[in-house]
Amino acid sequence: MRTTTVIIGAGQAGLAMSWWLAQRGIDHVVLERGAVANTWRKERWDSLTLLTPNWQSRLPGFGYEGDQPDGFRTRDETIAFLDAYARRVAPPLRLHCPVTSVRRGADGYKVESEHGMWTCRAVVIASGAFSLPRVPELAHTLPPDIEQVTLAQYRSPAHLRERGVLVVGAAASGAQLADEIRRTGRDVTLAVGEHVRAPRTYRGRDIQWWMDATGLNDERYDQVENLTRAQSLPSFQIAGYRDRRDIDLNALRTIGVKMVGRLAGVRDGKAQLSGSLRNVCELADLKLNRLLNTFDEWATARGIDGEVGPPHRLAPTQVDASPPLLLDFARSGIRTVVWATGFRPDYSWLDVPVLDRKGNIVHEGGVVTDAPGLYVLGLPFLRRRKSTLIDGVGDDALDLSAHLAAYLGTHPAPAHHTPPFPLSRTPSAA
Ligand SMILES: Cc1cc2nc3c(=O)[nH]c(=O)nc-3n(C[C@H](O)[C@H](O)[C@H](O)COP(=O)(O)OP(=O)(O)OC[C@H]3O[C@@H](n4cnc5c(N)ncnc54)[C@H](O)[C@@H]3O)c2cc1C
Repeated sequence: MRTTTVIIGAGQAGLAMSWWLAQRGIDHVVLERGAVANTWRKERWDSLTLLTPNWQSRLPGFGYEGDQPDGFRTRDETIAFLDAYARRVAPPLRLHCPVTSVRRGADGYKVESEHGMWTCRAVVIASGAFSLPRVPELAHTLPPDIEQVTLAQYRSPAHLRERGVLVVGAAASGAQLADEIRRTGRDVTLAVGEHVRAPRTYRGRDIQWWMDATGLNDERYDQVENLTRAQSLPSFQIAGYRDRRDIDLNALRTIGVKMVGRLAGVRDGKAQLSGSLRNVCELADLKLNRLLNTFDEWATARGIDGEVGPPHRLAPTQVDASPPLLLDFARSGIRTVVWATGFRPDYSWLDVPVLDRKGNIVHEGGVVTDAPGLYVLGLPFLRRRKSTLIDGVGDDALDLSAHLAAYLGTHPAPAHHTPPFPLSRTPSAA
């Protein structure tokens, strides 16, 4: 089969790219291994609500139309939202069609799937940045009777063994799970490394309102000082709960979550914990105050101090005088470790040599420079701070579709090339 462009993945990124390619009249196909929004269906926990308010889900040609712009979607509502977007985009979509290989071809790429091979001139990888749980090597050294659960496996506290739980990682996911599990009455210990503290609401406005209004979410990849660092920053320690409560370490402490330092090793049935807890908390407080200063300065410069609440600061993170450096699994009653240590992409099917030694695609704002015609979308800070957000992928897809169109223009199709799909879209199978 032939087409001009193959898009891999029908999450928000693949759908947004399909929208822009169709606007430009570029024929394409979207290959998806499962259903639309597969990741939300298969790999996210039951109680997950979006961190971003409803209004903040602007996709090309689509947006929030309900009467609760400040609410937060549940996982199922997010799936329904993306299903509705797929109906709006109506892409040429092949569902349940896993891509098994992408390699270079005579005048572009050969994309092999479980349902046939496509030859094409361009490929957009929209297969997700958060596909595989990132679990540290030391997981193998945990006592064998400890249950280990990754973020992709976790569903709800009811699915965990009885007794104590150690949650490793205190970004949004780890803090949310610590909060959820503790509220069922379990003993919860949270191993805290570098984290980004943020309040849900500041001066009466949602934190995401501030990020959007101040332009911080739009900050570009070629403007930040240290892009590699910006790309690896943990997510804000926030949740999208109805009561808009904070889930920072002070809030978790109030409900009885115990804080320890980063999990550094395991020996003789004991967890070895870093002594850096106080430092990482002080650093998080410092950065939080810098962020709030930025908001305050912006509000004053804009002359809107009267429209928002008065500036205020959060109490410094409370840290025990001497947090433990060792944690005996047996004695402390910990029976389960939840790895909230992040995700990584899965490129096991990519047979084009464009990965660095950490397995990441080497690219410049989504343009894979060593493989003309190859693009990647949906990665952290790909082109903007908001690149991984539902609200952010549309602008990146627009930019990359322009690059792709220019690439096709300067590398015209061979004379025998005939698109398999009409330029008007084929109906969605979503
Ligand atoms: C826990 C968590 C919470 C988040 N909360 C928010 C939030 O509140 N607000 C927000 O804006 N963003 C949030 N995000 C970030 C982001 O919106 C999601 O990660 C979103 O799923 C990214 O969309 P995507 O299209 O880039 O990737 P995905 O949704 O992962 O879509 C990729 C698609 O590619 C398919 N695929 C993968 N490999 C293949 C293959 N070989 N062949 C065919 N198909 C393939 C997958 O099945 C999947 O459907 C969150 C992320 C996580 C991990």
